[in-house]
Amino acid sequence: MSNEMKAMRIHELGGGFQLENIPIPKPGPNEALLKLKATGVGLTLAIMRKTQGLINNYPRVMGHEIAGEVVEIGSEVPSEIINIGDIATCHFYLTCKNCNYCRSGRESLCENFKGFFGLVMDGGYAEYTVVPAVNLCKVPSEVTPLDACLAADAICTPYHNCITEAQIKPGNTVAICGAGGGVAIHAVQMAQLCGGHVIGIDVSNKKLEAVSELGAFATVNPMENDVTEELFALTDGKGVDVYIDYVATKETLEIGMDTLGRAGKLIIVGYRPPSAFDGTLPNFSVDPLKVLNNAQEIHGSRYCSMDELRQSLELLRQKKIKPIVTETFKLEELEIAFQALLKNKVTGRAAILFD
Ligand SMILES: [Zn+2]
Repeated sequence: MSNEMKAMRIHELGGGFQLENIPIPKPGPNEALLKLKATGVGLTLAIMRKTQGLINNYPRVMGHEIAGEVVEIGSEVPSEIINIGDIATCHFYLTCKNCNYCRSGRESLCENFKGFFGLVMDGGYAEYTVVPAVNLCKVPSEVTPLDACLAADAICTPYHNCITEAQIKPGNTVAICGAGGGVAIHAVQMAQLCGGHVIGIDVSNKKLEAVSELGAFATVNPMENDVTEELFALTDGKGVDVYIDYVATKETLEIGMDTLGRAGKLIIVGYRPPSAFDGTLPNFSVDPLKVLNNAQEIHGSRYCSMDELRQSLELLRQKKIKPIVTETFKLEELEIAFQALLKNKVTGRAAILFD
C-alpha cells in the first residue's frame, strides 16, 4: 500500500473540510489501524466542529461513527480484542477504563475523560484511521459496514436513552422531539422495541412520514400545531410517560416539562451551544412543586457504555432495528453532506461510503 491517503481535514474552529493527501498514520503498541469502509455524518459533529474547546489541535480529521477493516495491529493488542481482517467500529469517548464510573459501565462519566475520538485524535473522514484498541468493538459478520457505523452513535445513543435512562415499559407513551433526525429516528424504533407507544415531533413533514412508517402512532409538527395541546389530547389529558429531547432548545425542553405526566421522565440528549447557533441559551425553567408532586425525573443522557455499543450491534444482527441511512456521499463530498444536515434536509443518517 502507498504511504499516503486521502483525508478531509479542518484547519480552524468551524472551518470547512479540505481534501488533502497526508501520510497513513502508524498504530502505537496499544492501537490498531483501520481501512475505513463507512463513516456516519451527523449533526453532532456539525455542532462540535463549531464548539470551542473540543478539538485540541489543527489540522484535524473528524469522524467518529466509523466502520473499517483492521489492517494493522500494535504489538500489545490482545487477540481477544481484535485481529487483522476483522471489521470494527469504535466507542466515541476516550476514557481511562479504570475509574469507578468506567468500571461500573458508565464510561461516559469517566473522571479522567481524555476527549472524543475524532476530536482530540484523528478520526474517520480519511481512508485510514488509528483507534485505541480498548475503544474497538468487533462487528458481527452479518452486519454491513454501512449499518455498523451507525451503531457507534445513531443506534447506541438511543439504546442508552430508551433502555438505561428512560427505562421505557410496555404501554408507556413516549414523545420524541426531533424524531426524524439521525439519532432520534432510531430512538423511534428503540422505544417501540421496549414496548413504548411513540409520538414523533418534528418540523419536517417529510421526516414525520418516515417516523410514521416506522410505527409511531401519532406525529406532531410544531409549525402546524400546538405541541403541548396535541400531547395532552393524544394521552387523554394525562401527559406523556417519557419525553426524549434530541433538539433541546429552551422551547422544546419546556414543552417536555409541561407535558410530562405522573412519574414522567424528561430525557435530555441534545445540546445546542449558543456559540454554534444563534447565541440563544437553551436554559429552561422548571416548576419544582410540579416535579415534586408528580415524582417526575429529569435525566441527562450521555452517549453509552461499551456494553451498550455491543448490544446495539447485536440488535442490528438480529434485525430488530432498521438502520436508516437516506443519503450516502463520497469522502470528497463531506462538506456537501454537512451543509445538507445543517439545512435540516437529511431524514435519518447520512454517511460517507469508501471504495
Ligand atoms: Zn474512567
